[in-house]
This record gives sequence, structure tokens and C-alpha cells, in this order.
Amino acid sequence: ETTDISTFFPEMTPPASRVVDVLLPLAVGTAYSYRVPEGLEVAPGDIVVVPLGPRNMLGCVWPDPGAPGERKTIDEARLKAIIRRYDVRPLQPDLMALIQWIADYTVTPPGMVLRLALRHDETAHLGRERTGVRLTEKRPARATAARQRVITALSDGLLRAKAEAAKDAGVSASVVDGLVDEGVLETLVIPPEPAAGVPDPAHAAPDLAPAQAEAAHVLRAAVSARTFRVHLLDGVTGSGKTETYFEAVAEAIRQGRQTLILMPEIALTQAFLDRFASRFGVRPAEWHSAVSSRRRARLFRAVADGEVRVVAGARSALFLPFRDLGLVIVDEEHDTAYKQEDGVHYHARDMAVVRGRFCNAPVVLASATPSLETEVNARRGRYQRLSLPTRFSGALVPRLEPIDLRREGPAKGRWIAPRLAEEMGKTLESGGQALLFLNRRGYAPLTLCRACGHRIRCPSCSSWLVEHRFRRRLECHQCGYAMPVPSECPSCHEPNSLIPCGPGVERLQEEVQALLPTARTQVLSSDLAGGVERLRAELDAVTQGEVDVVIGTQLVAKGHNFPGLAMVGVVDADVGLGYGDPRAAERTFQLLHQVAGRAGRAHIAGRAYLQTYMPEHPVMQALVAGDRDAFYDREIAEREEARLPPFARFCALIVSGPDPHAAQAYARALAACSPFTPDVRVLGPAEAPLAMVRGRHRFRLLARSARGFDLSAYVRAWMEGAPRAGSTIKVEIDIDPQSF
Ligand code: ADP
Ligand code: ZN
Repeated sequence: ETTDISTFFPEMTPPASRVVDVLLPLAVGTAYSYRVPEGLEVAPGDIVVVPLGPRNMLGCVWPDPGAPGERKTIDEARLKAIIRRYDVRPLQPDLMALIQWIADYTVTPPGMVLRLALRHDETAHLGRERTGVRLTEKRPARATAARQRVITALSDGLLRAKAEAAKDAGVSASVVDGLVDEGVLETLVIPPEPAAGVPDPAHAAPDLAPAQAEAAHVLRAAVSARTFRVHLLDGVTGSGKTETYFEAVAEAIRQGRQTLILMPEIALTQAFLDRFASRFGVRPAEWHSAVSSRRRARLFRAVADGEVRVVAGARSALFLPFRDLGLVIVDEEHDTAYKQEDGVHYHARDMAVVRGRFCNAPVVLASATPSLETEVNARRGRYQRLSLPTRFSGALVPRLEPIDLRREGPAKGRWIAPRLAEEMGKTLESGGQALLFLNRRGYAPLTLCRACGHRIRCPSCSSWLVEHRFRRRLECHQCGYAMPVPSECPSCHEPNSLIPCGPGVERLQEEVQALLPTARTQVLSSDLAGGVERLRAELDAVTQGEVDVVIGTQLVAKGHNFPGLAMVGVVDADVGLGYGDPRAAERTFQLLHQVAGRAGRAHIAGRAYLQTYMPEHPVMQALVAGDRDAFYDREIAEREEARLPPFARFCALIVSGPDPHAAQAYARALAACSPFTPDVRVLGPAEAPLAMVRGRHRFRLLARSARGFDLSAYVRAWMEGAPRAGSTIKVEIDIDPQSF
């Protein structure tokens, strides 16, 4: 099933006309026409600077999809002219095809998708300075307050761009210029920052175990063959998947081609970068939102020039302008972080497969618990499964035991069952570390008045406010609204009547401290003050054995290897199950399997305890029995029976607005004008799973079709015939939604 790029753009040659289409990174449906001034040559893919209203912006010369001569007659004289070509390599046809494909598939204007590719290299960098200023020994003849601020700002003796120096000092550029003229500052060329070192495929090649060698052989052959194929690298945590796909990376490096490695939580995968460096001698280029915009601008160019060989990044790395992409890897391919839920709703794993197809590059999906979609594709032979059946070091997969909360639960107001507490004590005594897992940030998920029963909710969302005791406030996890914890009930004004209900990780820490007073505890969640840097430091502290009990949210489930971790306790294994979300079983299975897999990675057989009210639930049974196939068999059969993905396709339309009646009325009108075909069933409108967010009321329509049906085309036709919505109403289209 190959797609020829030419089906999207029949004509990739530069148009003879002096008018070209330029796609701008905006939410508009089509490209705009611009005149090409005398003396400038542009071709599709070129990044150009064009005027738009009062400002200039970057756009991409877009292939004209119409046949030559079909172009409508345009009054050339009235068109604005392209200002200049931007000095970066043109976007390659495969990236333009990807952008167009994603726009079509997600029913989004192509400019919105282009924005994902150009966001990191915006006009801000057009006037990039290549020279910087630095303090000399000389002092100014005349010392004004402004001049003194510049001197203070530069007192570290480091070289800075002129604009940056002025900004740091809070003065105008002329003050800096004056100091340069006087010789107080000297100007120097800023040396270009190297984008990344060149990885050496032979730096430290490991001896592979037989199953690894077999899988690596297949992957190396796929890289050399330069053909598109999807491989599922399937093996438990610690089975050596990373080490195995590194062999494919080595092959791509030898072939002089580039590799993209997508990771779900890149800001935290310091350990991964180090591991890459010990295998290849240098770190890969890192690409995610925490990388500075200056560095991203530099990387953008270096990736386009082919100078950067390997990029490890978050989902946005998918849109980098690789010069010659020869391998795409999606690590932890089942992870929900790959789905972007705002702007362009796309699933990075699926789009990585599309990108591989357009580049004729093999794609590797790695997971211990593949998504149901991927598992079904592997079972049907569409994806090639490469299995790594055992843990590399021969370490045992942790033993899982359920703790039945109906029979051996903790006392009221406590969340750690006596047996779990006892096992934690034993683990610590024998020098091991314990991890308590609870996917709830903060102190308590709900605050309730014991006098009148009032529950404190967010004023602009349909969610309860969560108490955060470290920060002494109540917070909304939807919109970020925060307020101090009130001293009386906001409803009945009874003083001191508010009580926290249920546990969050902060509250759990209190309980651990009471149970094990000498234990060193640490909460790890995204709330940690100090951001990513602090988190990295804390993760290091855990690795060094400076912490006895880690209390963490799903953040700790992802990719961290704590060598001393001997046991895991899942405080509430049932969270997520039984809310009518058809993906709940899959998510719970994946998450708990992953968390439990954190135990005993080194040489100790770890143990994991699942506190549950439903030990007979198929998810718990499959986890406890260690029978992954049993879980998939059952889940696949159920989805097929109920005609749910991947055996059917869904598209969600979220209609939102400040006025619930208007939003609902528009959702009804949309439903009423859905084109009739026996292939599609439109369900709703109903209140969306989050009925209100940031003051907007949300209603959801679901369109369901058979698997092979082109649901995107259907939705596009539907939207084209839809009545105009009021200006406050917004319609978001979410193809392949995560909940349905
Ligand atoms: P996974 O990606 O499946 O979780 P890893 O590739 O991280 O597994 O391997 C688990 C551990 O085993 C790592 O510490 C890794 O360095 C080690 N390992 C895996 N394969 C080899 C090998 N062939 N030689 C030496 N060490 C290996
Ligand atoms: Zn809110």
C-alpha cells in the first residue's frame, strides 16, 4: 500500500507564471497568491518572506494542485510581491506531502499543519545577529544609569548578541552602540553553536542476545533496502528493545541517512540521551518545547542540511525538514502523550507511519504493551512483529499480587492496606526501594463541606478543585484556576467545615511518613517546583539510592530505570476502570503493566501489589497471571463485537460556546445537516465528556463508519455544507478520538 507523492501534487516543477501560491502558517483553507519580483527564482518548497497586512511572515511556496492553464486569471499587478527567499533549504516533497496528507486526514486547514513545521523558525529569527558584544577593560567617560545597567548586565564577561544585551539591561540599542563606539564594549563574531556531534556506529557495539540479533538483522536489512515497512518491536521492559533498535540506527548512520526517534516524555529522558551517547559516542539532537528557541532555529537548519544525523524528540519533531530520513522509531508507541488534543488533532504514532511511507523508510514501533490498533495490525500481518521474549539480563518479570480492598483494605481515611505497609517495611529493611503509584496530583481530589455537603468546583469548568497542600491552594486541573483554601464553606459559611476527600500523592506521602517514620520519601509529579531541572535532579537522587519510598504519578511510569527499586504498590488499580470509556481497560492494562515493570530491573525479582476492589476484573486477572495475550484476545473480541476501533472509525465533533443553549442548538443543527449515507452513523449531540472547560459549554457529535471508509472526506463534505456558526461558537474536529 504505497502512496505516490505525485497523487497529491501532480506538478512539482516550478510554474512558468510569475505568480505562485504561498501557504502561510495560518488557519486558512488555501494558499495565497503572490507575485514573484524580477530577478527572484522560486520553486515549490522554498521558504519565502511575504507581506501580509501590516507585517511580514514566513510561508512556503506551495505546489499548484490544479492543471497548468487551469489557474484563474489574476490581476498580477494588484498582487503583493514576495519580499525575498529565506536562507534555509526548501522543504522536501515528502514533508510537503505529509503536511497536505495530515491536513486532509484531520480535516484541518493545511496552513495549521504548516505551522507545526515552521513554528520553530519564525520571523523572530529573520534578523539574527551573528556578532555579539563583550565588556572590555575600559570604563566609560560618562557613566549614566543606563550605561551602568549595561555594564552590570555584561559583567559576567560573556559574549551576547547586541539586542540581547540591550534587552537584559532594559536599555535601547543606541546605548549599547555608544559603548561600543567608546571601546567599553567590543564586538566579536558569535561562533556558531555546533548542532550535534556525529554519532559513530562502531563506538560501542554490544554483543546481542540471540533474539536481539535476529530482530536487529531484520531491521538492518530494512534500513538498507530503503523500503517502507512497519515493524513492531515487542518485548517486556528490560528485554533490550532500545539496544536492538540502536542497531537499526547504526545502519542508517552507516548509510548516511537520518533517523527520527519519537519519545513520549522527552524532557525527562536524560537517561536515554546518555545511553545513546554510550552507544554512539555523542548524544542525539534533542527536540522538544524545553529546548530554547534559538537552539531550535539552529537545529531546524542543521536537520535540513543533513548535518544532524539523529533527532530524539517529542511529537513535534515529526515535522522537522529532514534532508534524507532513513528510519523512524516510535518508542513506547502505545503512550497517550502521542495524541495531540488541541489545534491539529493528530496522533504522532500514526503520522510517523505516514512519514515513513512518504520517505520509503522503515518504521519501528517499540512497546511492551502495544496499542490495540498496533496489536491488530501485527496479528493480521500488516506490521511485522519482532519479539524479544525475555528480560536481557535474565532478570525475572515482577510477580504481581492483588490486594483485595473489600477484604483487607485499610482503615477509613487511610489508603495503604496493612499488607502493603508490611511489605514496604520489609523491602526497606532489606535495603530496597519502594514505589507507590497513584495517578492523582495534589493532596485531595475533592473538598467537601461536612455541614452542608457542598463540593468546591471550578467556576469555569465542570471539574472539582484539587487541593494542593504544598502550595496551600485549590487548583483546577483543566484550566489552571487557583484560589486559597477557604476558611469557611463558600455555600453555608460554616467555619472550619471543609474536609479533603480521597487521596492525592501529597496526602499519601503523609501516610507513608506516619507508617515508616524513618523512611526518606519523595513525591514525583509534574507539580514539582523547579520544573524539569528539579525533576531530573530528584530522579538522580532516587537512582543514587537517596530516597527510600517514591510516591509518584504516571510520570514515574515512563522510561525511568531505578536500579534499587524492589517493589511497587499500586494504590488504586481501579482508577479509570468502569467509567464507560471503551479504552479504559486498554489504558489501565498498559499503565499498570508499565508501572509494575519498574520493579526489579537489575538483578532482583521485583514484586508488585495491586490494591483493587475488582480482583476478578479481566484486566487484573491478566496482569496477575502475566498473560498478556489473554488480555488482548478478549479485548480485541469485545471491540470487534461492539464495532469499536480499530474495527470501526470514529470522528468526534466538539461544539463549544459560552452560551450552553446556543452551543447545543448549533450542535443539533450540525447533526441535522449531516449527509446521509448508509456507511456513516451520526450519534448525538450529547454533553461532551468534559461538559465545560474555561467557561465554554461543550457538546459532542460522533460519526462512526466502517474501517475502510474515508471518514475524513465525509466530514469535510459535511462541514462544507454546514450552516454558519455564530462568532462565539467553535467546532473542533477530532479524527480517531481517544474516547468515543
Ligand atoms: P527495553 O528497551 O526493552 O526496556 P533495554 O534496551 O533498555 O530494554 O535493555 C535493558 C537493559 O539491558 C539495559 O540496561 C541495557 O543496557 C541492557 N542490555 C540490553 N541488551 C544488551 C546487550 N546486548 N548487551 C549488554 N547490555 C544489554
Ligand atoms: Zn477550571
